[in-house]
Amino acid sequence: MGLALMAVLPSYQHQGIGSQLVHEENPNTPLLPFSINPAVRILVSTMKHLSLLTAIGMLLSLSGISCEIRSNPDARSKLEVSGSLDILSAGTGSTDGQTARGRPADARPGGVEQAGEAEMKALAQAYPNRIEEIAFRNEDWALRIGDTWYFWAKGRLLPEELRLQWEEYASYRFYSYSLDLPPLPVLDEESKLRLRERLERAEDNPPRRSEAFLADLYRSATRGKTEARIGTVELVGFDVRVHEQIVEPLRKVNRALEALAEIDPGVQRFVAGLNGVAGYNWREIAGTRSRSYHSYGVAIDLTPKSFGGRHTYWRWALPHSDEWYAIPYEQRWMVPLQIVKIFEEQGFVWGGKWFYFDTMHFEYRPEILILAKASGDRR
Ligand SMILES: [Zn+2]
Repeated sequence: MGLALMAVLPSYQHQGIGSQLVHEENPNTPLLPFSINPAVRILVSTMKHLSLLTAIGMLLSLSGISCEIRSNPDARSKLEVSGSLDILSAGTGSTDGQTARGRPADARPGGVEQAGEAEMKALAQAYPNRIEEIAFRNEDWALRIGDTWYFWAKGRLLPEELRLQWEEYASYRFYSYSLDLPPLPVLDEESKLRLRERLERAEDNPPRRSEAFLADLYRSATRGKTEARIGTVELVGFDVRVHEQIVEPLRKVNRALEALAEIDPGVQRFVAGLNGVAGYNWREIAGTRSRSYHSYGVAIDLTPKSFGGRHTYWRWALPHSDEWYAIPYEQRWMVPLQIVKIFEEQGFVWGGKWFYFDTMHFEYRPEILILAKASGDRR
């Protein structure tokens, strides 16, 4: 890790704000850190997940990504993907001309799915109370909230007046999210180098997402407007402050969790080991210029009494391991997968499945899960 990056690391260590840990997730949190550009090779290696890898390979093939699945003599399966490391990008570079999900942006109307079409449809399905319509307008997919149209703009979700400046913004990540626990990535030397460069560059020029869409979606453009929408909900015995939009989903999570804890001693132990649940917190994401999902009140952290010496957050793991992204799951503080599933069923993704892992963190991204299920159905 470069000196510049190392120099800023201590500022991310366990800063307490009240009882809340600042551990913020990356805004651009792909499950795997690549979009599609035949420059860098990422090796995903596993002993156990051949069928999953086969499915991923098929999906990638369908998306026009070159990939191959090879078996070697020791029965290790490898998925080799050619892709650029599209991580922490500040809105310029490798995603240009590509969607985050690998379809060419210049696909022509008629038969072929347009860039952003699936994502915009998933958004409309995920937030029917806010998104009133979607349409293909002025050469791009757009969705309407009230009187404002937001354009796909290569994943930036920009209002009309910002459309042409899309390069100044980081994209909203519509990463492919695995409904199973994904195999850990194994990066080759070139990919490691690029990752290091990307992280260092991001420290100098942190990514900035346009907040216009999210602020409108959640009617939370300012701190005051946000806090007017914050309510309290009980989750596993703790009161947590969240946006009104996720109060009902969290109530359902809570009911399902309590029912599961009654019959599953492991789940009961996990819940008993929690120290709190953190929700709304007005702040930017560490190392970025974007508002955290916590600052909209649509993310929560389950914080344990003790991590038991295990890793929970990629930024905290960085100083301990050059290959922090490959730290085995056994060495990470994990949320039981039955609990993860309960959250997913209510529209929450788990940060424990991200490349930039954040195992305490859940955030409300029903559109990501709609896309994940659609991918699963196509298999
Ligand atoms: Zn969090």
